[in-house]
Amino acid sequence: MSKFTATILGTTAGMPTKQRGHTAIHISYNDGEETSLLFDCGENTQRQLMVAGLNMMKIDNIFITHWHGDHCLGLPGVVDTLGFEGRKKPLTVYAPESWRVDDCLSFDHSMADFKAVSRDVSYRGMRVRRTFKNKRFDIMTVPVKHSVPAVAYAIIEKDKSCIDLRKAISLGMPESGELYGQLKKKGRVRVGKKKITLKDITMTKKGKKVVYSGDTEICRNLRKLVHGADLLIQDCTYFDEERPEKHYKHASLPEVIDMVQKEGVKKTILTHISRKYQDSDKLKELIKDYPNIELAEDFMKVELQ
Ligand SMILES: [Zn+2]
Repeated sequence: MSKFTATILGTTAGMPTKQRGHTAIHISYNDGEETSLLFDCGENTQRQLMVAGLNMMKIDNIFITHWHGDHCLGLPGVVDTLGFEGRKKPLTVYAPESWRVDDCLSFDHSMADFKAVSRDVSYRGMRVRRTFKNKRFDIMTVPVKHSVPAVAYAIIEKDKSCIDLRKAISLGMPESGELYGQLKKKGRVRVGKKKITLKDITMTKKGKKVVYSGDTEICRNLRKLVHGADLLIQDCTYFDEERPEKHYKHASLPEVIDMVQKEGVKKTILTHISRKYQDSDKLKELIKDYPNIELAEDFMKVELQ
């Protein structure tokens, strides 16, 4: 059994408030082995990680959506602390305009004794590209529509083969027991007069998909990426029916609702909340009729099994 755990470390838009810190999302994937990923790294992320009880030494890969301060100003601090903690293994930072990683990390006389490697993420065109892969999941990226080059990320778990117990029982296999061990070892067993192969009772379990929008208007590329997602962490800067007069290319609640319903998203967490909304209860009231949509708060944890 595998599990994603997303910890939302900061939920404000632009400027912090007393309740909401700058954007950063820690996602752990655990299938027996645990992998820690960090998406965006706003100011104060290192302290938010500590308060949340997350070990930043376990993070090997950071994914930046765009270079606005509320998404990246925490990077030098994280790197400094990793240096103080004696980190030796490299840290990889994925980002559009990846040359900015080096600029950002050469900001101070850091004591860090490890390499920070930058990897470029394409922010042009319509293609969904694979940015990261291992044996257990891929991270896909698509350009989105913001006021500066920006991307959204999706973690897509690999499909898995597993025993289809219902089919096995219909073919005469018991509910459990050593026959399954034999089947896995030899590839086939005999049940009465019947020969059953592993292939006969194996099914493919579709991998889960977790998407983080970064900052963006709702656009075709984003719709493509969120289609069928199990969990979406979504920019919802505005909750008003109308866009504000001066629009900074973010999403609003009615648009998000429309997108997640049309694209079959199973669960949505609204984040990057404008500081003009100080009363979370009023915002929760606006989404009370949508059980699959929740309002993010700093340190909120969302699990997906
Ligand atoms: Zn932002």
